[in-house]
Amino acid sequence: MAATGVGARFILEVFALEIVRAMELTTILNHCHRHRGFVYQRVRFGPDKKIIEVDVRPRQGSAAICSGCHQPAPGYDQLSQRRFEFIPLWGFLVFLLYRMRRVNCSRCGVVVEEVPWADGKYQLTKAYMLFLARWARKLSWKETAESFHTSWEKVCHAVEYVVSWGLEHRTLAPIKAIGVDEIQYAKGHKYLTLVYQIDAGLTRLLWVGQERTIETFEKFFTMIGPELSFKIEFVCSDMWKPYLRVIREKCSQALHILDRFHIVAKMNQALDDVRAAESRKMAQEGHQPLLKNSRWCVLKRKANLTGTQKFRLRDLLRYNLQTVRAYLLKEDFQQFWEYESPTWAGMFLDFWCYQTMHSRIEPMKKIAKMLRTHRELILNYFKAKKQFSSGVVEGLNNKAKVTMRKSYGFRTFRITELALYHSLGKLPEPALTHEFF
Ligand SMILES: [Zn+2]
Repeated sequence: MAATGVGARFILEVFALEIVRAMELTTILNHCHRHRGFVYQRVRFGPDKKIIEVDVRPRQGSAAICSGCHQPAPGYDQLSQRRFEFIPLWGFLVFLLYRMRRVNCSRCGVVVEEVPWADGKYQLTKAYMLFLARWARKLSWKETAESFHTSWEKVCHAVEYVVSWGLEHRTLAPIKAIGVDEIQYAKGHKYLTLVYQIDAGLTRLLWVGQERTIETFEKFFTMIGPELSFKIEFVCSDMWKPYLRVIREKCSQALHILDRFHIVAKMNQALDDVRAAESRKMAQEGHQPLLKNSRWCVLKRKANLTGTQKFRLRDLLRYNLQTVRAYLLKEDFQQFWEYESPTWAGMFLDFWCYQTMHSRIEPMKKIAKMLRTHRELILNYFKAKKQFSSGVVEGLNNKAKVTMRKSYGFRTFRITELALYHSLGKLPEPALTHEFF
């Protein structure tokens, strides 16, 4: 009996050992990151016990793949060992160690092989890059680097890889509606031109261009090609002349809509100018500072005013100030957006402009002139049945601004472009067999 007991225990111990062995890292790797033609050989700690190193070797009898033509090719020689960084585990950095083979390809000559876990120029494995890139969408790049004990540059490489892959593999067609807007970046007056798709079912960033010139925006149409350009039905933009011109030339079939948000913003700017100038003038002439702290009273929509602001506004309205008259014109204009028919909206617009031109308030007269100049495009808003109102492009642009704040390490165009595509492009991602994230 005793002997049997010992024997049973021995068997159990062997079995337990097998289980422990079965859970070696190679087993886990084979489960989540398996590649035909390669085997994980040995796992060990690096010299300082902060790194886990995994030896990888080609599976016996499997041919190397030529990186030029992606076909199997006879071996030529082997290069020195390369380290590919994998997803860190329990606070340890993980590296796959592999000696790349060179092949003698009948088509491409002597070239280095292609390995499935990495992309030629990157030191990080594809799985790790995808992992980092996904985190970099939730955290800032700096926070991502800190969280995984890696560098900002590596996070940047990861995003670059995922974005390049996504741009190469995305489907552009069909595009029904686009919105174009500029955004300021870096310090000073540097601009980017952003083009969004604003279809009912899909809103995404399509393109990022440097500057906001005619040449810039033309590049977008070159990118999508004439066939797609001709199929665009709606274009939403602000009143920036170069944009207007390019839309006329490249997208003449589309209904061009001037963005409501930009018109409202310009109107508010004009009102603010009137208020500031009048306030200064009154102070100089030694009048009572009636307009002091009045900025928000007149700029905010009436419905959004606080109790005190409402009271201030009521008080202000008793005076025959330019600011008050400009304010009333602005408030009056709100009604414009309520119309359904382009004809009635047009009549209202004409009347409003006529009134404003007689107001003797220069900044407001400028607005009226602007509205007259762009009358047709503004009325297109009603022709498009208000489908593409202000919100969409503006919302996307606000997201773009947040993204730019989060990604900054170097304020170069390239980094900004990458970060924007990454967070707003809705790009496809390379597929992995296992979800590491
Ligand atoms: Zn080849």
